[in-house]
Amino acid sequence: MSHVHRVACPLDCPDSCTLAVEVEGGRIQRIDSATDGALHPLQGGLICGKVRRMAEHVHGDERLRTPLLRRGPKGEGVFEPCTWDEALEHVAAQYADVARRHGPRALLPVSYGGSNGLLTQDAADALFFRRFGAAPVERTLCAAPSSSAQGALYGKMPGMSLVDMEHSQLVVLWGVNPHVSGIHLVPVVERALERGAKLVVVDPRATSFARRAHLHLQLEPGSDLPLALAIANLLFERGHADLAFLEQHARAVDRFREACAAWSPARAARATGVPVEQIEQFAELYGTRSPAAIRCGWGVERSRSGGMGTAAILALPAVAGHFGHRGAGFAMSAGSGAWRGQLADACDEPDVEGPAVNLSRLGEALAGGPDAAVFALHVYNANPLATFPNQERIRRGLLREDLFTVVHDAVLTDTALYADVVLPATTFFEHAELQRSYGAFALQLSTPAIPPVGESRSNHQVFVELARRLGLLRSGERTDEARFVEAALALRPQRLEVLRNEGLVAPDTGFQPVAFVDMFPGTADGRVDLWPAEFETAPGGPWHWQAEPPGGGGPLVLISPATSRTTSSTFGQRVRGPISLALHPFDADKRGLVEGQLVRAFNDLGEVHARLTLDSNLRPGVACLPKGLWARHTHNGRTANALIPDHLSDVGGGACYNDARCEVAALESSA
Ligand code: SF4
Repeated sequence: MSHVHRVACPLDCPDSCTLAVEVEGGRIQRIDSATDGALHPLQGGLICGKVRRMAEHVHGDERLRTPLLRRGPKGEGVFEPCTWDEALEHVAAQYADVARRHGPRALLPVSYGGSNGLLTQDAADALFFRRFGAAPVERTLCAAPSSSAQGALYGKMPGMSLVDMEHSQLVVLWGVNPHVSGIHLVPVVERALERGAKLVVVDPRATSFARRAHLHLQLEPGSDLPLALAIANLLFERGHADLAFLEQHARAVDRFREACAAWSPARAARATGVPVEQIEQFAELYGTRSPAAIRCGWGVERSRSGGMGTAAILALPAVAGHFGHRGAGFAMSAGSGAWRGQLADACDEPDVEGPAVNLSRLGEALAGGPDAAVFALHVYNANPLATFPNQERIRRGLLREDLFTVVHDAVLTDTALYADVVLPATTFFEHAELQRSYGAFALQLSTPAIPPVGESRSNHQVFVELARRLGLLRSGERTDEARFVEAALALRPQRLEVLRNEGLVAPDTGFQPVAFVDMFPGTADGRVDLWPAEFETAPGGPWHWQAEPPGGGGPLVLISPATSRTTSSTFGQRVRGPISLALHPFDADKRGLVEGQLVRAFNDLGEVHARLTLDSNLRPGVACLPKGLWARHTHNGRTANALIPDHLSDVGGGACYNDARCEVAALESSA
């Protein structure tokens, strides 16, 4: 007899769908969109195909079912099963030994994005690592530059609700491809277009929406900052700036205007590769159509000037006064910001003091030798070898014989092959979760839909047990998951009851707050800060564009965007067969390369071998490998990250995935 269980999707996606999971005999039979009244308004009865097929991942052959101990050289994946007791005893003993010999900071926790749930990250794990005294980390792989930019200008005022974009008369999709990531924006944009909105897309690729847009600005990757400043400059010059709004709601307007004035359309055209006429058309559309909304994606932030590039885009609605109406403003991390002041940390243990390790430079942290600082690594919710920059540097670190590595995951990831101990993890269908969306205004509480597969255990269980074995728990201390849920909701305890009964609540601002009506900047003076102090320490100072990334590496810009099958490495695991490297036909022809040929993309950091595919939707000069790949997807077991440098963005210290430069050459003759 089957039953349907409601679960919130906590995967790294802004939409946070409520799923209806049909279960029979402890197995998932079907996953679909929930249809009852507790749905948040963005979802509209739609979920993505990737999660619809997730039962294959949950019950599939690759699922880990027991703990494993390494029995061969690192990287070769030779393991033998053991009991949980043996595994945890070994891990606890090794962590204690590392702390004794090198200090507790020699243990480095690595987690990122495998789950965005509030119980699987920064709850029991934080309690364990903070009491142990492990190295604090900065999770900067994604969203750190954007969050810093949004925070600097608006004091973390949430972006507009994505649903409200259907009321816009101009929709700007900047560095975002909703057909593959954040699919619920697609019907919203369609509705806006049906109501007569114009669509502008800014992207180096001719995405589905770009091909239908009224205007597509196919810029050089990493040149968003000069483009946005040039548009702001035109808004000021041509009388489209809302000076009354700026006077009342912004600070440092004159200094910002001066910085923009340095970017004439002609100079911006040279920097971005976008024709002058298109820059002018964009400014004209943005200055004259209202309400206008900009959806700024995470493609913008992934370069050396990505933080300020994002900030310049987010400054445009302030310059043009596109606020105060439903359908006007910017959309970025909407949901998360809306919970400020309403959600507390799920873990109330104080942070470990001292400098944090920036995970975008994990390879540097793992470097061995006399200066080595990390001797134990605990990886959960992440597959860093596949997804973090400078892959070969990380691989060299993972091969260190004096590094003790634990990986807790549902399948044997590329990183897990280098582990000393592998622990089988539950998926979000098998454990409780508190899920806050970053695209919709919703907080959801889920209970397990099925029992754990095999002997898998949740992050919560593992960290509580390790804390117990290492004597880090206090006498009589509560260690149940409800403790962390209650802590997170301590500022609004009455909401717990609603969550338990109905599964979903919205923030106090309501589902769709309007900027400068229901919510205002959280900066010190409540104004939009157009010259933030945080930007003073960025290379070159506020609004300075770094024309080239450090290091060079080749004439082609390599980008690694999400695809409909690989928005993350969690989904990448389900993709069968090799993946191709894409080049524009012009670039392939220039190099004498043809469709289907085996090629190598290379630079000083590494190389990737793959079959070539020709894609005229790319901007010439741009090579493309999908995000979320595993070693199995290329011919030499390397992914785009083998070519991606690990320098940091100007603001927020984020990973610069789009700063990779490379050359592409034949590995085999085309004959
Ligand atoms: S990955 Fe995104 S679109 Fe897919 S089910 Fe989860 S929240 Fe919904």
